[in-house]
Order: sequence, then structure tokens, then C-alpha cells
Amino acid sequence: MTAEQKSREKIVRIGGQLYQRQLAHGSAGNLSIRLEDGSILVTPTNSSLGFLEPARISRVSPAGELISGDPPSKEAFFHLAVYEARPSAGAVVHLHSTYSVAISCLCHEQDEDVLPPLTAYQVMRVGKLPLLKYFRPGDRALAEAVRQSSRTNSAMLLANHGPVVSGKTIEEAMYAYEELEEAAKLFFLIGERKANPLTAQAIAEINKFFPN
Ligand code: ZN
Repeated sequence: MTAEQKSREKIVRIGGQLYQRQLAHGSAGNLSIRLEDGSILVTPTNSSLGFLEPARISRVSPAGELISGDPPSKEAFFHLAVYEARPSAGAVVHLHSTYSVAISCLCHEQDEDVLPPLTAYQVMRVGKLPLLKYFRPGDRALAEAVRQSSRTNSAMLLANHGPVVSGKTIEEAMYAYEELEEAAKLFFLIGERKANPLTAQAIAEINKFFPN
């Protein structure tokens, strides 16, 4: 099996798991993997992550042209923006999972980091979570905002929409996404009670012992 075929199978398997665990619903959300030649495999438009087929996954050039498979997700353009800005990124996970989307709909005092650092795993896997402003679906201006934020962040939250998370591998991106969704869940579970987030010193120590 070629590396491309393996990656196609992996997207199908991981999409199915995310769908079963209700992190993806309907035809929302998309996954991508960057291949060695710089092209990407991305889930097709109007496809459900629960019912993907390997041969139908779209392969798209860095410029966004379809190479093989079905037409790509209408959100593929911001996956390409992540890859352009982050040479280390090998995969991108973008879902509309409930708790993270809820965070994206709240008013925030600042937009540099909109989820308090509650646990060490959140700090290690997700890091800061900047909020990008709202863009109409398909608005290409979103690509520039994602590109800029991706230079310094592997996770970001699109306002009234959902997170975009990248990793060296699809597994790493998926684990980071799941950690983010759990942190968002904790945030709402804590609610109005006074939380005790990690201190700047604790975060610096984690980043020293577990550099990315
Ligand atoms: Zn979306």
C-alpha cells in the first residue's frame, strides 16, 4: 500500500471514530493530511465523517486544484493556509464539536487566549487558543487570518464556528483536538465557581519540560 493509500484509509478510520464519539455530526467538519509532495488529502464537500470512502477523499494541490477524488470540502482553503504557515504541520482537524463551538460563541475580554489553562495536558497539547473573528462561510479572507495565527499557534478558534487544530501527524492533531474539547467541557462544568487555573510559572515549567 502506498503512503497516499495509507493516509486515505487513516482519514476514513479517524473520521469514523470522531463521528461515533459525536465530535462530528451531519456533514460538518473536515480532516486533512499533507503528503510528501506538498499536496493534501482532505475530506470531500458534503461528506459525513462517519461514512467516508478512501478513493473519494479529495487530493488537492497546494494551490487548491483538485488532483483526484471528489470535490474538496469548502473549508479546504483554510487547511491549505495552515500548511503554508506551518512547515511542521502534517495534518489538520477542524470540527464543529459542541463545547468548543460554545466557547467560540461567548463574549471574551481578549482574543489572544480564550480558554483558561486548566490542566497540564491542555497546556501541553493545545497551548494558547486565540479567537479569530467571525467570517461568513466560504469567505476567503479567513485564509489570511488563519495563516497569520498559524505562524505562532497550532490551535485556534473561529468565532461562532469552531476550532482548527494542526499536528505533525493526524493522531497528534486529533489528540490535541480532543484535549481542547475536554478543556472546553471542563470550563462549562466549572461554570461560575472560582477556578484555579495554572500559574504562568507552572505553564513555563511545562513548556520547558515538554517543548513542542
Ligand atoms: Zn467549519
